[in-house]
Amino acid sequence: MPVRAFVIGHPIAHSRSPLIHRYWLDRHGIEGSYEAFDIAPRDLDAFLDRVRAGEFAGGNVTIPHKRAVFAACDRHDAVAREIGAVNTLVCEGGMLAGRNTDRYGFLANLDAACSGWDEGAAAIVLGAGGGARAVLSALKSRGFAPIHVLNRTPERADALAGDFGPGVQAGPLSAFSACAERASIVVNTTSIGMQGTAFDGLDLAQLPDRCVVTDLVYDPLETPLLAAARQRGLRTVDGLGMLLHQAVPGFAAWFGVTPDVTEELRALVVADVERAP
Ligand code: NAP
Repeated sequence: MPVRAFVIGHPIAHSRSPLIHRYWLDRHGIEGSYEAFDIAPRDLDAFLDRVRAGEFAGGNVTIPHKRAVFAACDRHDAVAREIGAVNTLVCEGGMLAGRNTDRYGFLANLDAACSGWDEGAAAIVLGAGGGARAVLSALKSRGFAPIHVLNRTPERADALAGDFGPGVQAGPLSAFSACAERASIVVNTTSIGMQGTAFDGLDLAQLPDRCVVTDLVYDPLETPLLAAARQRGLRTVDGLGMLLHQAVPGFAAWFGVTPDVTEELRALVVADVERAP
């Protein structure tokens, strides 16, 4: 029987996961499938029952289900527990095993694209949502401290700092200038950058010349933040690589082959991003 995998979200039409996983299925000659399902929150439990019953080997979970699926899982890996959200599900003998591969994807992308990126100490994380939790877990795992979490809604940054403990300091976005001078990496985890939006008054002038600037937003590929950093002469890394790398562990778990993130795959997804209205 061909192995089946899925991505669930609501909405789901924008997801590039089917493109990525079907490329790998094709490349490896695997007779499996990867399907996208638009699952409204009220239908989530019924869908998870189908997964438990063995209809699928597993799948990806995206907005708005990452925390609800975390709560529904029978077991979790340590990273999913730390982040409190699941983006990758594996059905293990009728049990739902929840993983989070966003941290892996974030780290693998930077390791591949920007050697020595993790040699510094201080970091700035813009945003305090789900993406920020994965990034905080990643930066902490590489020893960054202090990590300044700056967010429009300060209470959300406070909550994150509370969850991730000493070394993580919360503040408003307006604190950027005060933290910039010592930052060795700046990570945008907000949705600013999508649909032509840009940060208002974020001054990159004070960042050190060795600072790396990276964005989780990958549509457009070069966000206004990345464009400003490039013009300032800083090293930049776009968010598409994170999306590609986070897909690797799931594919390996469901289909039994560890796939590569190739230039050909990246070009395929770039073309799709650029084609989208
Ligand atoms: P989320 O949980 O909804 O958090 C959104 C964050 O953006 C919050 O910190 C929010 O601030 C901030 N924000 C939204 N609009 C803003 C505005 N106008 N001004 C200032 N701040 C604003 O979303 P998420 O899951 O973390 O995702 C965030 C982005 O990362 C999305 O674009 C997503 O596609 C991307 N992402 C990419 C990858 C990848 O693989 N490349 C992985 C995960 C996420 P408040 O708290 O004040 O509302």
